[in-house]
Amino acid sequence: MKPTIITLLIILPFLSLLAQEPHPIAPSEIHTRLGTQISNAIDEMNKEKQKPGHERQTKQVTVYVSDKHPASVSGEHPAADEERSIVSNLNRLTEGNKRFVTGNLKRKDFAAQRKEVVNGQHPYAIVITCSDSRVPPEMIFDESIGQLFVIRLAGNVVDSLALGSVEYAVEHLHTHTLVVLGHESCGAVKATVEGGHFPPNIAAIARHIEPAVAAVRTRKIPESALISECVKENVHEQIRLTMKNSPILFDAMIKGELFVLGSVYDLASGKVRFLTGE
Ligand SMILES: [Zn+2]
Repeated sequence: MKPTIITLLIILPFLSLLAQEPHPIAPSEIHTRLGTQISNAIDEMNKEKQKPGHERQTKQVTVYVSDKHPASVSGEHPAADEERSIVSNLNRLTEGNKRFVTGNLKRKDFAAQRKEVVNGQHPYAIVITCSDSRVPPEMIFDESIGQLFVIRLAGNVVDSLALGSVEYAVEHLHTHTLVVLGHESCGAVKATVEGGHFPPNIAAIARHIEPAVAAVRTRKIPESALISECVKENVHEQIRLTMKNSPILFDAMIKGELFVLGSVYDLASGKVRFLTGE
């Protein structure tokens, strides 16, 4: 499919926040990767950030998307409150993961928290991750009931059912932060790399991961780093598929109503690494 070229204005309102208070995650690092064009643009933005007197920037970026998407989209400023909430959401995830790593977990009163959410849910982040039993998001981010909206399929793949679930969270629960969380030593990624004959339903999972593996195979990656690189690339691939196959989520991202971050969980250390600039 021939890609349509869309020119977007990417606004950097986050930079104004930098001057006010330090954040563990710099607001300008909040981004999604939608092909190398966006990545390059983010690199440029980060360079601009270093220059004095550049509190708010406007950048023109060319993005390649599928013909499925509307031919023209205008970028809008996210509201200041929304910017702050996204920064605080990411900091909350980061701090929760730190507690998980150190074992210094916050005290949870499940009985009280269960009652609090009987009449409605307001999760602050959506997490798409693998079904692997070693990667439970609520534990990894030291959260409790009603705080994370989680979609889990082997290989953290996104099919239409997964996307429908994310769209529900964005449109009806007004959750603005989406984290796609891959993990080291992912069995689904390993199986796809090794190939072979899969039963039909497992083959469906492998098909979602194959483009990431194919992309990595075009690079000169040492065999020892192959799976790890495929895990990372698969996170980017699932974000790309999300944006390609969900016009609702793509539009939300363009309007600044949805921020998407890739990340990888390390089984041994318990640490989540956010893929900013990787
Ligand atoms: Zn996995």
